[in-house]
Amino acid sequence: TTASTRDLLLSRIRDVADYPKPGVMFKDITPLLADPVAFTALTDALAELCVKHGATKIVGLEARGFILAAPVAVRAGLGFVPVRKAGKLPGATLSQAYELEYGTAEIEIHAEDLSPDDRIMVIDDVLATGGTAGASLELIRRAGARVAGVAVLMELGFLAGRGRLEEHLQGAPLEAL
Ligand code: AMP
Repeated sequence: TTASTRDLLLSRIRDVADYPKPGVMFKDITPLLADPVAFTALTDALAELCVKHGATKIVGLEARGFILAAPVAVRAGLGFVPVRKAGKLPGATLSQAYELEYGTAEIEIHAEDLSPDDRIMVIDDVLATGGTAGASLELIRRAGARVAGVAVLMELGFLAGRGRLEEHLQGAPLEAL
């Protein structure tokens, strides 16, 4: 991405202090989504990364990852597969639990939507601790597909998600716009 695209995207992200709980600086992307120029620039930049890394399919992470991954998939001419919170997918699922700051979470995928020939790019809005993205990479591998990488709009560097993701990436790229 060019510096001007980065500036545009940054200018459309709203910082909301103490949401959803005290001490969290929430990165709100709704102003970006509401701006067609910024939303298109983001979609184009993420689609470019998918092509660059040879992705054959896009996985989006519930819920804001869906909003970004779907237009990216259409833009890149690739299929879209959702990773959902446990209990939301009707078919045969693979599940992966992972650690949160307090407690655990569980995500699921329809394994039949991935094939051994697929190279998957995972898309989300924010990489925080990296727990969700890491668990999604495990799901992708357990479903028998390969990992093309992870692409996010923003990486919260101080949370060290990149380091936590390393063992799950196994050399695949983590791209943060
Ligand atoms: P994590 O598993 O910690 O990397 O966090 C993953 C999910 O939580 C992502 O899907 C983000 O959308 C969301 N998230 C975490 N922290 C923030 C934040 N500060 N602002 C916005 N979204 C966040």
